[in-house]
Amino acid sequence: MNERLLTPLDVATLRKDFALLTTPFQGKPLHYLDSAVSGQMPNAVIERMAHYQRFEHTNVHRGVSTLSQEATDRFEEAREKVRAFLHAPSLNQIIWTRGTTESLNLVAQSWGRANIKAGDEILLSAMEHHSNIVPWQMLATEKGASIKVIPMDDRGVLDLDALNTLLTPRVKILGITHVSNVLGTVNPVKEIIAAAHAKGILVVVDGAQAVPHLAVDVVDLDADFYAFSGHKLSGPTGIGVLYGKKELLEAMPPWQGGGSMILSVSWEKTTYMGIPGKFEAGTPPITEAIGLGAALDYLKAIGLERIAAHEQELLDYATQKLNKIEGLRIIGTAPNKASVLSFVLEGIHPHDVGSILDHEGVVVRAGHHCAQPVMKRFDIPATTRASFAYFNDRDDIDALVAGIHQVKDIFGTDSDGSAEEQS
Ligand code: PMP
Repeated sequence: MNERLLTPLDVATLRKDFALLTTPFQGKPLHYLDSAVSGQMPNAVIERMAHYQRFEHTNVHRGVSTLSQEATDRFEEAREKVRAFLHAPSLNQIIWTRGTTESLNLVAQSWGRANIKAGDEILLSAMEHHSNIVPWQMLATEKGASIKVIPMDDRGVLDLDALNTLLTPRVKILGITHVSNVLGTVNPVKEIIAAAHAKGILVVVDGAQAVPHLAVDVVDLDADFYAFSGHKLSGPTGIGVLYGKKELLEAMPPWQGGGSMILSVSWEKTTYMGIPGKFEAGTPPITEAIGLGAALDYLKAIGLERIAAHEQELLDYATQKLNKIEGLRIIGTAPNKASVLSFVLEGIHPHDVGSILDHEGVVVRAGHHCAQPVMKRFDIPATTRASFAYFNDRDDIDALVAGIHQVKDIFGTDSDGSAEEQS
């Protein structure tokens, strides 16, 4: 869609949906630039969950009570909202998990343990979050398989020529993040998936940082598995999703056993439900699933394209402002980026930057962002990361820029005409 035809977001009105953003924090306005770590929930989501808890709650998929049937209906309606959001062909391809981490562990533990053997390779990109590294390392150690890594350049762009060389017959699965949580790079996952499929290799996509910013169509991407978390998407913590291709999910064994996932149990033999039930042992996060459904309704009402256009404008504005600050280096300069801006300040540790910004009411994240291999690749211990959402505006970025000058002032490195840059 042509972004210029989209109506701009009315951020001032939207912010009224978020008590945290409109209430002074430690006596100052709060500039929340940390949505990549966790988004904020609008009132509509909080109220929907509270209503469910107050008036509608019991366990789901159990019993004949009207209350239980209605709770089950609400829970399954939320699954349908996720299906529509991802454009998945059918409802039973949407599996509830606790989050991206659990979704990726499910793939590694269920598909991986059944299909990976000694000598096989698991291919991962150089910009994966630990949650798309560690489960595969655990599996590789258990099976005698090995991990190979797709390199990236100094901008944070994956080397697709290297990818083609790495896609050998030994590779059984490729794990790739759709959007990097450190660099902001939007990876060309459709192209990468096509290249892998041409060699008969499956692809699992970590969508944790993509779904808040991009419209995702799992069929168009042809992803074999796609994982995301509710809390990055204006929903609550404790809920996530794994989408999988039907024939893959059907062939995969359960990975956790217990109630709700069985057809019959005897001392001799247990039989399992079909998908998605066989992957959802125990009482699921019902309130959270309903909350995620409400979050998707909320985002849909604003319009995903409008959100993307707004965030892109903020990213461009912030990039331009930060690029003017002497001694500041942006980590992640890929041409195609989404909503994440990591940087380092010469001679100042990112934790100090984060703490001083915090004092000014600017919430950012400082650290390795659960991506230590990315830190090693750029030869830095950590970054300070600002990340943008639909409820942010230029004021938040101006507060960030002013805060960075304050940091430099404190460390005696602000000799670069701060007044001009803060304007
Ligand atoms: N992958 C990426 C790219 C992420 O940014 C995150 C969250 N930082 C995760 C995976 C893990 O998500 P969660 O902690 O919600 O399981």
